[in-house]
Amino acid sequence: MEIKRLKAEFMDANVFVLVQGGHALVIDSGAKLEEVKKAIGSAKVVALLLTHAHFDHCYYALDYAKEFNCKVYMNENGKKIASSAESNYSEDGFAITDYSAFRFLSGDGQLDLSPFRVEYFSTAGHSPCSTCYKVGEELFAGDTLFSNGIGRTDLIGSSKEDMIKSLDKLSRVSFATAHSGHGEDSDFSRQKRNITLFKRFLTR
Ligand SMILES: [Zn+2]
Repeated sequence: MEIKRLKAEFMDANVFVLVQGGHALVIDSGAKLEEVKKAIGSAKVVALLLTHAHFDHCYYALDYAKEFNCKVYMNENGKKIASSAESNYSEDGFAITDYSAFRFLSGDGQLDLSPFRVEYFSTAGHSPCSTCYKVGEELFAGDTLFSNGIGRTDLIGSSKEDMIKSLDKLSRVSFATAHSGHGEDSDFSRQKRNITLFKRFLTR
């Protein structure tokens, strides 16, 4: 599986394009469609997965869904966030109003998006819709885990208590590399230390 990291148009957010055997899986949608198309090449897009509904991660979701004729997966709590510019933090009044391409996830589970096997974990805290996706041994952590910390818990819909529970959940998930919603990748041992350290910050 090849993993390409693209820069979103906003807030230096990341978009990931995973390519395997002529198929592609896209994670988050803040990068312009043309750039994503370039990264995908001739592969067929099987789905778009959203790590959460803040504008820098979902801005072009409907453009991707239309262009690639694919479904958009997001935690069910994201609808309220994506539908409101205030909650999704966009500066230009951006809000998603058409959810016909969306499939809503709740809790933890698996998606068979052949050839990709995807496990998803509800990791509320930064946002009530925060979701981490494990594809193979790779964890796509959105704004829950960063290489040097964890996501903010002082935003609309954030919850420190939920973040602590989500960190506990992630401490039981094994993976090779964490690919965050902003910034660089980080390996499993770094994230293990991160999770322990930042959980302590939240509980004091
Ligand atoms: Zn965010």
